[in-house]
Amino acid sequence: MMTLPLVLKGDLRPFTIIGGGDVASRKVQTLVNAGAKVRVIAPSAGVDIAKLAQRGAIDVEAREATPNEHFEPGSFVVLATDNSELNEALAAQARSQNCFVCRVDQHEGNDFIFPAVIDRSPILVSISSRGTSPALTRHLKQRIDAFLPQEYRQLGELVETLRADVKKRFAAPLRPAFWRKFMRSNVPELVLARQPDRAMQLAERLLSGKEEGNGEVYLVGAGPGDPDLLTFRALRLIQSADIVFYDRLVGPGVMALVPEDAERIYVGKAMADHAVPQDEINQRLADEARKGKRVLRLKGGDPFIFGRGGEEIELLAQYGVPFQVVPGITAASGCAAYGGIPLTHRDHAQSVRFVTGHLRNGTCNLPWNELIHPHQTLVIYMGLSGLSEICKQLMSHGMDPDTPIALVEKGTLPDQRVHTGTIATMPASIEGKEIHAPTLTIIGSVVNLHSKLAWRPELVRDESAD
Ligand code: SAH
Repeated sequence: MMTLPLVLKGDLRPFTIIGGGDVASRKVQTLVNAGAKVRVIAPSAGVDIAKLAQRGAIDVEAREATPNEHFEPGSFVVLATDNSELNEALAAQARSQNCFVCRVDQHEGNDFIFPAVIDRSPILVSISSRGTSPALTRHLKQRIDAFLPQEYRQLGELVETLRADVKKRFAAPLRPAFWRKFMRSNVPELVLARQPDRAMQLAERLLSGKEEGNGEVYLVGAGPGDPDLLTFRALRLIQSADIVFYDRLVGPGVMALVPEDAERIYVGKAMADHAVPQDEINQRLADEARKGKRVLRLKGGDPFIFGRGGEEIELLAQYGVPFQVVPGITAASGCAAYGGIPLTHRDHAQSVRFVTGHLRNGTCNLPWNELIHPHQTLVIYMGLSGLSEICKQLMSHGMDPDTPIALVEKGTLPDQRVHTGTIATMPASIEGKEIHAPTLTIIGSVVNLHSKLAWRPELVRDESAD
């Protein structure tokens, strides 16, 4: 059977539903929602159908259908009785009156089927499997439904309200180009970001042919590496970028999602050699947005956690360049989850502290006395090169030398490794071992849970260091 999805006007032709059970009831509801004229023939019907009849939304004939039933020629007939012989006879009768027939007790030979529908009216997404697999259709519907922001409704409505204006302003051959420009502009994203006023202003500027002001900077947290850990919004903004500024922590899995025609600019830093100075990055983000581009600033993890995201948007705020900030899963969360180390397990820790172990002049200036607290988990970002200094300081300020420590190397990536030991032994035991950046350090008794809770076989690769 070949099928073709078409969208019908709800009130084009009447529908007759034979049967009053659950399936019939669902179809009736769908049809009523679409504004269809519905007649139900069933000796008894469920409460939902009865309620609709009471409201006058449908006509119900409380009787058994007969094989020689009369149907309005060219109308739609849904056969939902549990008597397949009767369904068979009614199908033949309906077709002899040029009706379109859908039997719910079989999926072959139907003239039409009901697709699963994701409703963002005026936008509808319909999914069907030619009737062969309702379960698969439902599964897909759930996935797409979760992925499609509710705000597409508002976007659909905005487009509907603009249609008349566009028609007035542009001759027919120019309209498709206008709508393409509109869809590629920042308007859809502004609607999805629930900023309808700005969306409308920009739409009006586009309509009047003035385009400037379209640019925006998206400061997006790309998470710790596994692209599956992106948020829906991050993915959407990544896919709509004109130009991308990214650094070392943004993995290839995430970069693969950037549109092929977007310009890519590497601004990464490797410890001592700053590829592009921070001031210059800040300035370039602003400049590109002011040219009207949608500028994606992708940062590893969360942009506001040791990411200098705040500095990058400060200049934008000062210039009045619009921006959005999208949180990402920070390395602490990613490494803890994928390493089976619950950071605040109740038996071990009441608090967790994120600190930077970045060295300045060979030392790091941390409030050591606060860090040695026994019921606290310490997460140290950028702490690999200063590890032995950090462990030494913690011990000399009173931390138990047997305190467990984990180094999570390339957390959440396919080659993640977890090295465990104690703060007394770890620095010496990794000496001479090749440990790759990025590596996150976790200190505290929660680390002991790793041996029990590591759950992703391909990511466990536990390298006990002591
Ligand atoms: N904004 C980032 C952190 C940037 S600082 C975030 O929220 O995660 C860079 C440090 O983060 C690295 O030195 C390392 O300590 C840590 N890091 C980032 N990604 C990591 C990963 N996939 N595995 C282990 N550590 C990671």
